[in-house]
Amino acid sequence: MNVKNLEEILNRNRSYTNQGETANYIPELAYANPQQLGITVCTPRGEVISVGDCEVEFTMQSISKVVNLIVAVLDNGPEQVFSKVGMESSGEPFNSVAELETKAENKPLNPLINAGAIAVSSMIKGRDVEEQFQRVCTFLSKITGKENITLNERIYESEKLTGDRNRSLAYFMKSTGVIDTNVEEALDLYFRLCSISVTCSDLAKIGLFLSTGGKIQGEILHKNMPKAVQIALSIMLTAGLYNESGETMMKAGIPAKSGVSGGIMAAPPNEMGIGIIGPAINSKGNSAAGVKILEDLSSEYNLHVFKKK
Ligand code: GLU
Repeated sequence: MNVKNLEEILNRNRSYTNQGETANYIPELAYANPQQLGITVCTPRGEVISVGDCEVEFTMQSISKVVNLIVAVLDNGPEQVFSKVGMESSGEPFNSVAELETKAENKPLNPLINAGAIAVSSMIKGRDVEEQFQRVCTFLSKITGKENITLNERIYESEKLTGDRNRSLAYFMKSTGVIDTNVEEALDLYFRLCSISVTCSDLAKIGLFLSTGGKIQGEILHKNMPKAVQIALSIMLTAGLYNESGETMMKAGIPAKSGVSGGIMAAPPNEMGIGIIGPAINSKGNSAAGVKILEDLSSEYNLHVFKKK
Protein backbone atom coordinates (compact mmCIF):
# COMPACT_ATOMS: atom_id res chain seq x y z
CA MET A 1 0.00 0.00 0.00
CA ASN A 2 1.29 3.48 -0.81
CA VAL A 3 0.08 7.03 -1.30
CA LYS A 4 0.04 6.76 -5.09
CA ASN A 5 -2.14 3.70 -4.96
CA LEU A 6 -4.66 5.34 -2.64
CA GLU A 7 -4.65 8.54 -4.69
CA GLU A 8 -5.43 6.52 -7.75
CA ILE A 9 -8.41 4.89 -6.00
CA LEU A 10 -9.63 8.27 -4.77
CA ASN A 11 -9.39 9.95 -8.17
CA ARG A 12 -10.99 7.02 -9.95
CA ASN A 13 -14.09 7.43 -7.76
CA ARG A 14 -14.24 11.21 -7.55
CA SER A 15 -17.02 11.53 -10.10
CA TYR A 16 -19.40 9.56 -7.83
CA THR A 17 -19.58 12.61 -5.56
CA ASN A 18 -21.91 14.02 -8.23
CA GLN A 19 -24.30 11.13 -7.67
CA GLY A 20 -25.18 12.19 -4.16
CA GLU A 21 -26.13 15.21 -2.07
CA THR A 22 -25.29 16.36 1.43
CA ALA A 23 -27.89 15.34 4.01
CA ASN A 24 -30.35 18.15 4.62
CA TYR A 25 -32.89 16.69 7.02
CA ILE A 26 -30.48 17.87 9.73
CA PRO A 27 -30.13 21.42 8.34
CA GLU A 28 -26.54 22.04 9.52
CA LEU A 29 -25.26 18.95 7.66
CA ALA A 30 -26.27 20.48 4.34
CA TYR A 31 -23.41 23.02 4.59
CA ALA A 32 -20.72 20.37 4.06
CA ASN A 33 -18.79 20.47 0.79
CA PRO A 34 -20.23 17.71 -1.43
CA GLN A 35 -16.97 17.53 -3.41
CA GLN A 36 -14.88 16.74 -0.33
CA LEU A 37 -13.28 13.32 -0.55
CA GLY A 38 -10.62 11.70 1.59
CA ILE A 39 -9.25 8.32 2.66
CA THR A 40 -7.04 7.35 5.60
CA VAL A 41 -5.67 3.87 6.14
CA CYS A 42 -3.91 2.75 9.37
CA THR A 43 -2.11 -0.57 9.52
CA PRO A 44 -1.22 -2.65 12.60
CA ARG A 45 2.45 -1.87 11.83
CA GLY A 46 1.77 1.78 12.60
CA GLU A 47 1.61 3.14 9.05
CA VAL A 48 -0.92 5.93 8.52
CA ILE A 49 -1.59 7.00 4.96
CA SER A 50 -3.99 9.84 4.16
CA VAL A 51 -4.99 11.13 0.74
CA GLY A 52 -7.45 13.83 -0.30
CA ASP A 53 -9.36 16.11 2.08
CA CYS A 54 -8.56 14.34 5.31
CA GLU A 55 -8.03 17.36 7.55
CA VAL A 56 -11.63 18.54 7.49
CA GLU A 57 -13.64 17.65 10.59
CA PHE A 58 -17.13 16.21 10.32
CA THR A 59 -19.56 14.65 12.77
CA MET A 60 -19.64 10.94 13.48
CA GLN A 61 -23.40 10.55 13.07
CA SER A 62 -24.27 6.86 12.87
CA ILE A 63 -20.65 5.75 13.15
CA SER A 64 -20.94 6.62 16.85
CA LYS A 65 -23.47 3.78 17.14
CA VAL A 66 -20.64 1.25 17.02
CA VAL A 67 -18.77 2.84 19.93
CA ASN A 68 -22.03 3.29 21.80
CA LEU A 69 -22.77 -0.43 21.35
CA ILE A 70 -19.35 -1.54 22.62
CA VAL A 71 -19.61 0.60 25.75
CA ALA A 72 -23.15 -0.67 26.43
CA VAL A 73 -22.06 -4.30 25.99
CA LEU A 74 -19.12 -3.76 28.36
CA ASP A 75 -21.44 -2.04 30.85
CA ASN A 76 -24.32 -4.52 30.78
CA GLY A 77 -23.20 -7.73 29.06
CA PRO A 78 -24.51 -8.86 25.68
CA GLU A 79 -27.54 -10.72 27.08
CA GLN A 80 -28.96 -7.59 28.68
CA VAL A 81 -28.31 -5.42 25.62
CA PHE A 82 -29.82 -7.92 23.20
CA SER A 83 -32.85 -8.47 25.39
CA LYS A 84 -33.85 -4.96 24.25
CA VAL A 85 -32.40 -4.80 20.74
CA GLY A 86 -32.35 -7.38 17.95
CA MET A 87 -29.48 -8.75 15.85
CA GLU A 88 -31.07 -8.78 12.40
CA SER A 89 -30.40 -6.59 9.42
CA SER A 90 -33.13 -4.32 8.16
CA GLY A 91 -34.37 -3.71 4.65
CA GLU A 92 -35.97 -0.45 5.74
CA PRO A 93 -34.46 3.05 6.00
CA PHE A 94 -32.39 3.72 9.14
CA ASN A 95 -35.07 5.84 10.78
CA SER A 96 -38.07 3.67 9.95
CA VAL A 97 -40.98 4.09 12.34
CA ALA A 98 -43.24 1.42 10.83
CA GLU A 99 -40.68 -1.33 11.30
CA LEU A 100 -40.56 -0.78 15.03
CA GLU A 101 -44.22 -1.51 15.51
CA THR A 102 -44.38 -4.58 13.33
CA LYS A 103 -41.40 -6.55 14.63
CA ALA A 104 -41.51 -9.10 17.45
CA GLU A 105 -41.75 -7.56 20.93
CA ASN A 106 -41.43 -4.16 19.21
CA LYS A 107 -37.67 -4.49 19.56
CA PRO A 108 -35.57 -2.41 17.19
CA LEU A 109 -34.03 -4.77 14.64
CA ASN A 110 -30.41 -4.00 15.48
CA PRO A 111 -28.21 -1.52 17.38
CA LEU A 112 -27.07 0.31 14.23
CA ILE A 113 -30.42 1.70 13.13
CA ASN A 114 -31.66 4.83 14.91
CA ALA A 115 -34.21 3.12 17.16
CA GLY A 116 -31.66 0.49 18.21
CA ALA A 117 -28.98 3.08 18.91
CA ILE A 118 -31.32 5.22 21.01
CA ALA A 119 -32.27 2.12 23.03
CA VAL A 120 -28.57 1.27 23.44
CA SER A 121 -27.86 4.85 24.60
CA SER A 122 -30.38 4.37 27.39
CA MET A 123 -28.21 1.49 28.71
CA ILE A 124 -24.90 3.36 29.00
CA LYS A 125 -23.96 3.67 32.67
CA GLY A 126 -23.50 7.07 34.32
CA ARG A 127 -25.11 9.36 36.91
CA ASP A 128 -26.39 11.73 34.23
CA VAL A 129 -26.13 12.39 30.51
CA GLU A 130 -22.93 14.36 30.95
CA GLU A 131 -21.21 11.45 32.71
CA GLN A 132 -22.52 8.93 30.18
CA PHE A 133 -21.27 11.12 27.34
CA GLN A 134 -17.88 11.62 28.97
CA ARG A 135 -17.47 7.86 29.46
CA VAL A 136 -17.98 7.26 25.74
CA CYS A 137 -15.62 10.16 24.93
CA THR A 138 -12.93 8.74 27.23
CA PHE A 139 -13.17 5.43 25.44
CA LEU A 140 -12.95 7.17 22.04
CA SER A 141 -10.02 9.17 23.27
CA LYS A 142 -8.15 5.96 24.14
CA ILE A 143 -8.91 4.42 20.74
CA THR A 144 -7.96 7.48 18.67
CA GLY A 145 -5.13 8.75 20.90
CA LYS A 146 -6.80 12.17 20.72
CA GLU A 147 -6.89 13.99 24.04
CA ASN A 148 -9.93 16.13 23.41
CA ILE A 149 -13.00 14.60 21.93
CA THR A 150 -15.36 17.46 21.18
CA LEU A 151 -18.89 17.93 20.10
CA ASN A 152 -19.96 20.18 17.22
CA GLU A 153 -22.43 22.47 18.98
CA ARG A 154 -24.10 23.69 15.79
CA ILE A 155 -24.84 20.16 14.60
CA TYR A 156 -25.92 19.10 18.08
CA GLU A 157 -28.42 21.98 18.31
CA SER A 158 -29.62 21.29 14.79
CA GLU A 159 -30.16 17.60 15.58
CA LYS A 160 -32.04 18.41 18.77
CA LEU A 161 -34.23 20.96 17.05
CA THR A 162 -35.19 18.72 14.15
CA GLY A 163 -35.02 15.26 15.76
CA ASP A 164 -38.77 14.67 15.89
CA ARG A 165 -38.55 11.36 14.12
CA ASN A 166 -35.99 10.10 16.61
CA ARG A 167 -38.22 11.38 19.41
CA SER A 168 -41.16 9.43 18.03
CA LEU A 169 -39.04 6.25 17.91
CA ALA A 170 -37.85 6.80 21.47
CA TYR A 171 -41.29 7.50 22.95
CA PHE A 172 -42.70 4.48 21.18
CA MET A 173 -39.97 2.35 22.74
CA LYS A 174 -40.75 3.87 26.13
CA SER A 175 -44.38 2.80 25.69
CA THR A 176 -43.35 -0.79 24.97
CA GLY A 177 -40.75 -1.01 27.73
CA VAL A 178 -37.70 -1.23 25.45
CA ILE A 179 -36.57 2.02 27.08
CA ASP A 180 -37.09 2.02 30.81
CA THR A 181 -35.08 5.11 31.71
CA ASN A 182 -35.66 8.81 31.00
CA VAL A 183 -36.43 9.08 27.26
CA GLU A 184 -35.26 12.68 26.87
CA GLU A 185 -31.93 11.79 28.44
CA ALA A 186 -31.48 8.78 26.15
CA LEU A 187 -32.22 11.05 23.17
CA ASP A 188 -29.90 13.76 24.43
CA LEU A 189 -27.04 11.27 24.75
CA TYR A 190 -27.81 9.91 21.27
CA PHE A 191 -27.79 13.42 19.74
CA ARG A 192 -24.53 14.25 21.50
CA LEU A 193 -22.84 11.06 20.29
CA CYS A 194 -23.95 11.71 16.70
CA SER A 195 -22.48 15.22 16.94
CA ILE A 196 -18.93 14.23 17.97
CA SER A 197 -16.34 15.79 15.63
CA VAL A 198 -13.84 13.49 13.94
CA THR A 199 -11.48 13.39 10.98
CA CYS A 200 -10.86 10.59 8.53
CA SER A 201 -7.84 9.46 10.49
CA ASP A 202 -9.91 9.17 13.71
CA LEU A 203 -12.24 6.84 11.81
CA ALA A 204 -9.30 4.81 10.54
CA LYS A 205 -8.02 4.44 14.11
CA ILE A 206 -11.41 3.21 15.31
CA GLY A 207 -11.33 0.78 12.38
CA LEU A 208 -7.87 -0.42 13.36
CA PHE A 209 -8.97 -0.93 16.96
CA LEU A 210 -11.83 -3.15 15.75
CA SER A 211 -9.73 -4.87 13.12
CA THR A 212 -7.19 -5.96 15.73
CA GLY A 213 -9.89 -7.44 17.99
CA GLY A 214 -10.07 -4.50 20.40
CA LYS A 215 -6.40 -3.80 21.10
CA ILE A 216 -5.23 -0.33 22.05
CA GLN A 217 -1.48 -0.03 21.54
CA GLY A 218 -1.24 -3.81 21.67
CA GLU A 219 -3.22 -4.11 24.88
CA ILE A 220 -6.71 -5.39 25.64
CA LEU A 221 -8.11 -2.96 28.22
CA HIS A 222 -11.13 -4.97 29.34
CA LYS A 223 -11.53 -8.73 29.59
CA ASN A 224 -14.82 -8.62 27.68
CA MET A 225 -13.47 -6.33 24.95
CA PRO A 226 -12.77 -9.08 22.37
CA LYS A 227 -16.36 -10.31 22.70
CA ALA A 228 -17.80 -6.79 22.47
CA VAL A 229 -15.70 -6.09 19.37
CA GLN A 230 -16.71 -9.38 17.78
CA ILE A 231 -20.36 -8.42 18.28
CA ALA A 232 -19.80 -4.96 16.81
CA LEU A 233 -17.99 -6.33 13.74
CA SER A 234 -20.69 -8.94 13.12
CA ILE A 235 -23.45 -6.35 13.14
CA MET A 236 -21.39 -3.95 11.04
CA LEU A 237 -20.98 -6.65 8.42
CA THR A 238 -24.70 -7.39 8.22
CA ALA A 239 -26.21 -3.98 9.02
CA GLY A 240 -23.53 -1.27 8.91
CA LEU A 241 -24.62 0.44 5.70
CA TYR A 242 -28.33 0.79 6.32
CA ASN A 243 -30.43 -0.85 3.60
CA GLU A 244 -27.38 -1.09 1.36
CA SER A 245 -25.68 -3.52 3.76
CA GLY A 246 -26.30 -6.69 1.72
CA GLU A 247 -24.89 -5.17 -1.45
CA THR A 248 -21.85 -3.79 0.36
CA MET A 249 -21.26 -7.12 2.08
CA MET A 250 -21.33 -8.86 -1.27
CA LYS A 251 -19.19 -6.35 -3.16
CA ALA A 252 -16.73 -5.12 -0.50
CA GLY A 253 -17.18 -7.79 2.18
CA ILE A 254 -15.75 -5.60 4.94
CA PRO A 255 -17.36 -4.82 8.32
CA ALA A 256 -18.10 -1.11 8.03
CA LYS A 257 -20.33 1.63 9.39
CA SER A 258 -21.48 4.74 7.59
CA GLY A 259 -23.02 7.98 8.79
CA VAL A 260 -25.19 10.59 7.09
CA SER A 261 -22.38 13.15 7.28
CA GLY A 262 -20.67 11.01 4.63
CA GLY A 263 -18.15 9.17 6.77
CA ILE A 264 -17.42 5.46 6.49
CA MET A 265 -15.37 3.58 9.08
CA ALA A 266 -14.26 0.11 8.02
CA ALA A 267 -12.43 -2.70 9.76
CA PRO A 268 -11.25 -5.60 7.59
CA PRO A 269 -10.32 -8.16 10.29
CA ASN A 270 -6.59 -8.36 11.09
CA GLU A 271 -5.71 -6.11 8.16
CA MET A 272 -6.14 -2.37 8.74
CA GLY A 273 -8.45 0.44 9.76
CA ILE A 274 -10.07 2.56 7.07
CA GLY A 275 -11.64 6.01 7.30
CA ILE A 276 -13.40 7.59 4.33
CA ILE A 277 -15.18 10.96 4.01
CA GLY A 278 -17.40 12.03 1.15
CA PRO A 279 -20.38 14.14 2.33
CA ALA A 280 -22.43 13.63 -0.84
CA ILE A 281 -24.65 10.72 0.19
CA ASN A 282 -26.78 8.45 -1.97
CA SER A 283 -30.48 7.66 -1.52
CA LYS A 284 -29.67 5.02 1.14
CA GLY A 285 -27.75 7.53 3.28
CA ASN A 286 -24.23 6.29 2.42
CA SER A 287 -21.39 8.32 0.93
CA ALA A 288 -21.92 7.89 -2.82
CA ALA A 289 -18.21 7.90 -3.62
CA GLY A 290 -17.29 6.30 -0.28
CA VAL A 291 -19.03 2.98 -0.98
CA LYS A 292 -17.27 2.76 -4.36
CA ILE A 293 -13.92 3.51 -2.74
CA LEU A 294 -14.58 0.77 -0.18
CA GLU A 295 -15.23 -1.73 -2.99
CA ASP A 296 -12.03 -0.70 -4.75
CA LEU A 297 -9.96 -0.93 -1.57
CA SER A 298 -11.39 -4.39 -1.02
CA SER A 299 -10.45 -5.70 -4.44
CA GLU A 300 -7.09 -3.91 -4.56
CA TYR A 301 -5.94 -5.24 -1.17
CA ASN A 302 -7.82 -8.51 -1.09
CA LEU A 303 -9.91 -7.50 1.93
CA HIS A 304 -13.20 -9.34 1.36
CA VAL A 305 -13.78 -11.52 4.41
CA PHE A 306 -14.72 -14.47 2.22
CA LYS A 307 -11.91 -14.16 -0.27
CA LYS A 308 -9.29 -16.88 0.00
CA LYS A 309 -6.08 -15.22 1.21
N1 GLU B 1 -28.09 11.81 13.78
C1 GLU B 1 -28.62 11.12 12.66
C2 GLU B 1 -30.07 10.80 12.89
O1 GLU B 1 -30.42 10.51 13.97
C3 GLU B 1 -27.84 9.86 12.44
C4 GLU B 1 -28.28 9.15 11.22
C5 GLU B 1 -27.19 8.43 10.52
O2 GLU B 1 -26.04 8.82 10.44
O3 GLU B 1 -27.58 7.37 10.02
O4 GLU B 1 -30.89 10.84 12.03
